[in-house]
Order: sequence, then C-alpha cells, then structure tokens
Amino acid sequence: MCTNFNKKILDKATKSLKKNDLKPVSNNNHKYFMKQAVKMALKGVDANEGGPFGCVIVKNGKIIGKGNNMVTSTNDPTAHAEMTAIRDACKNLNSFQLDDCIIYTSCEPCPMCLGAIYWARPKIVYYGSNQKDAAAIGFDDQFIYDEIPLPYSKRQIPFEQCERKIALEPFTKWSKKEDKTAY
Ligand SMILES: [Zn+2]
Repeated sequence: MCTNFNKKILDKATKSLKKNDLKPVSNNNHKYFMKQAVKMALKGVDANEGGPFGCVIVKNGKIIGKGNNMVTSTNDPTAHAEMTAIRDACKNLNSFQLDDCIIYTSCEPCPMCLGAIYWARPKIVYYGSNQKDAAAIGFDDQFIYDEIPLPYSKRQIPFEQCERKIALEPFTKWSKKEDKTAY
C-alpha cells in the first residue's frame, strides 16, 4: 500500500515534470510526428503511389504540410516524400520558405531532397530510418553522393558547359531588375 502510494506520487510528479520540462515533451512530439510521417509512407505503399517514404512538416506544433513518395503514380522522378511535403507546406504557408519549420521524414533524405531542404530553409530535420536501411531494400542513393566530387567528365551523366555568353543574359537582366523578389 505504502509502495503504491509512493508510486502514485512519483507518477504524478513524473507527469507534471513531463508537462513542464521541455525535453520529454519534445521527445513525445518526436514520436507523434514521426508516426505521422510513417503513416504517410504506409498510405503511399497501400495506394501504390510510390516508394515507402513519408514526410510531415511542422510549424508551431502543428502539421502544415505532408507528403509521401509519388514517383511512380505521377511519373515524376522528383516526387519524393520530402519534395511533395515541402510543396504542400509552402502552398499552405503561401511562402517559398519554411521559416521556423521542422521536417519529420521517415527516411534520411536523398541528395535531391537534401538540396530542396536547404533551399526551403527549415530550422531542423528529423529523420527516422537511414541511408543504409533504404539501400537494403533497393533504394541506394550512395551513387549520387559518389558522383558529386567527381570531375564532370568522369560522371555517369557527363556535364559539359556550352554557350556561356548566351546563357548569361538572364543574369544580366536579373541584376538590373529593380522590382525583383530576392531570396
Ligand atoms: Zn529524396
């Protein structure tokens, strides 16, 4: 009885600590939001929309954007979960930047999504499974990382520069433009 009583008090104390201490609350949030990202991934698999990846974007404790991989169902090689979630969030925020946003993605982002995330500028990214987990089921993006430091001519898809002078025209125009939306 005495032990139960103490346990009750301890439980109560722990609960109030969880309420007031940011760390446990934020850990609970991690679990909740990661579960929502995973839910999106599972939905995509069930609906044959694409690979097993999901993502949610959170601002002020609320989900403001979500997405799952839709590559095969939309014939869009860029429709990774993070990309679709970023598009959704930016549309909902009516902004081209994810200021103060948190990204929860079910798997560590590939190099394309990594780039998109940097352009979108959220404040932090939490990922569930990692590159190696993805590679183990056939989604290996290591080859892209391997390509990045290679000279252009040695890449699997060679890059060659041509007609630089012609291509510089939009830059000149942008530099002179006075009513541009800089970012
Ligand atoms: Zn990706």
